[in-house]
Amino acid sequence: MFSGGIPIGRFFGITVKLHWSWFIIFAWLTWMLATEFFPSFEDYQDWRPATYWIIGLVTSILFFASVLAHEMAHSLVAKAAGLKVSAITLFIFGGVSQLTEEPKSPGSEFRMAVAGPGTSLVIGGACWGIFFATRHSVSPVAGMTLWLGYINVALAAFNMIPGFPLDGGRVLRSVLWWRSRNLRKSTRIASVIGRGFGYAFIFGGIALVFIEVYLLGLSLVIIGWILENAAAGSYRQVALRDLLQGHKVSEVMTQDCMAVPPALTVEQLVNDHILVSGRRCYSVADYGRALGLVTAHDVKAVERKLWPVKTVREIMTPIDKMRQVRPDDDLSSVMYLIMEKNVNQVPVLQDSNIVGMVWRDSLLTFVHLRSELGI
Ligand SMILES: [Zn+2]
Repeated sequence: MFSGGIPIGRFFGITVKLHWSWFIIFAWLTWMLATEFFPSFEDYQDWRPATYWIIGLVTSILFFASVLAHEMAHSLVAKAAGLKVSAITLFIFGGVSQLTEEPKSPGSEFRMAVAGPGTSLVIGGACWGIFFATRHSVSPVAGMTLWLGYINVALAAFNMIPGFPLDGGRVLRSVLWWRSRNLRKSTRIASVIGRGFGYAFIFGGIALVFIEVYLLGLSLVIIGWILENAAAGSYRQVALRDLLQGHKVSEVMTQDCMAVPPALTVEQLVNDHILVSGRRCYSVADYGRALGLVTAHDVKAVERKLWPVKTVREIMTPIDKMRQVRPDDDLSSVMYLIMEKNVNQVPVLQDSNIVGMVWRDSLLTFVHLRSELGI
């Protein structure tokens, strides 16, 4: 959902990106600190007007550095456990680390989950330390660290809410997982609690809107909605992965992908192949070497009057542009491909030949049958 964004650099081998919504919160926060928070303190009344804005801006930057440190802690512990971290994205409600895999053991999940809030607590404590040391001497530094101390402790506290996929929910899942040795069941419990918190935020937010606390109310509704969705989605994903793991591509692939020559016209493809065999997908091969794939979908994109002149080679999807899998790949990775890239079929390649096809439908049937039978 928040995976897009502008890359701003790589730290410890992890790309850091800013989602567009980040700029809204950054501007709002700077404005709120400069015009409301700092001016409301008696101790900070003697600042010059420019000081409010400079300190507001620096505080915002340091706040986002703290959020980044929180996410970086998760990601570095994940990397140390051998997991791949693709990026960290900062967005309107904080940060997310994009992990391409789930933790492999309850212990590594626990360490990964507590690393973030732990880091926030340490930063918060350090900020308050600086606040107490500077409150009688350097008032801008004191003002800045006072707020940063609160916000980092709040960040740790919010993230420790025990609803999956928040950090606290991950801690809960790791404990359940460690006790039951059942990842799927543990995820189910932790994500039901996550959805519960999601609904609680939504209703709490609506209640706030009714008593005219609009900004906080609306933010809570959106955060609750995101949490509810994420909780439900991550459970579905874990359940699906659990079901598919250990099964191979060869179990669901169809081997009826006939080869056609690249010089065939679209008209010939329709009349001599699609209409005759009823098949919707053909591999385009030249002397046994696969060049690409052509489907009924590609044909539909060509204007009818061009059918006699356009060749299959012109309308096919070239092989190097396609997501491809091998017969002995794990089915869970294919599901990821089909869902993530939103494709209908994935060609199965072996020694640069298309040996079969995995269809979205047959994969879903595979999943439905097994979950219906409880295996
Ligand atoms: Zn976290």
